[in-house]
Amino acid sequence: MYLFDYHTHTLNSLDGHDDIFALCENAIAQGLREITITDHFESSLGNDQYLRYNAKETFSQISEARQKFEGKLIIKAGVELGQPHLFPEYSLKLIENHPYDYVLGSAHRMPDSVDFGEVEYTAENLSSYCLKYLDVVKGLAQWNHFDCVGHFDLVKRYAANYQLKAQLLDYKERVAEILKILIQNGKGIEVNTSGLRQSSGECLPDFDIIRFYRQLGGEIITVGSDAHWASDIAKGIEDAIEIIHNAGFRYLTIYTNRKPRMVKISNQAVILSIGAK
Ligand SMILES: [Zn+2]
Ligand SMILES: [Zn+2]
Repeated sequence: MYLFDYHTHTLNSLDGHDDIFALCENAIAQGLREITITDHFESSLGNDQYLRYNAKETFSQISEARQKFEGKLIIKAGVELGQPHLFPEYSLKLIENHPYDYVLGSAHRMPDSVDFGEVEYTAENLSSYCLKYLDVVKGLAQWNHFDCVGHFDLVKRYAANYQLKAQLLDYKERVAEILKILIQNGKGIEVNTSGLRQSSGECLPDFDIIRFYRQLGGEIITVGSDAHWASDIAKGIEDAIEIIHNAGFRYLTIYTNRKPRMVKISNQAVILSIGAK
């Protein structure tokens, strides 16, 4: 099985803890063939954090790492754009002027720049935050200048910290509307394994949404650990592949120069990896 991790953060993200070389070394140790560096480019009101992303530095480090790990690991240049549709001029300029292989689009913040991870969730406000979140994801989907949407049901990760379960499929029509936009535009979703390491204990999105996406005709799907530490690289990737396979997918997607390529999920390798746990 061709294993890869399409969501990783280095020190070039505000919340990253390890450099690209440490990430690559652990990727190789974990048996990955390919990783994509997706540091945060986080547009927000006042645009304060945007300046912290240094594209030049990112590309120079990727180029150095490609030389260092040549023949051992394929390193793709990606970026995780936070709510790019709210500040489209910054994000568009970035991706139009740099040779990214892969652009991940994420909804982290509300239009007033409050991060969905910074609010307090209660049984009373949960539904209103789920709807707010879905509005931002819909705007992102309509913006369309990315390849995949990151952690589709991200609010679940945060609500779980308050022992609450945010079930986006309670708003099935809205979820369907967003997934159909992605499918029509040839965009995909990622299965983000960070939830497996956190309170929710599930991938983002969860199995039901992955299966719903498939039922609606979704084909483009990728996997990422959302590692902010080198030690989290590849974590949960094989579990995610099993979940994706169970949801009816037979292919995963990887990218070069923003062009998708399908990689067959090998039944045998998945079964073997489960047996080896
Ligand atoms: Zn994210
Ligand atoms: Zn991330």
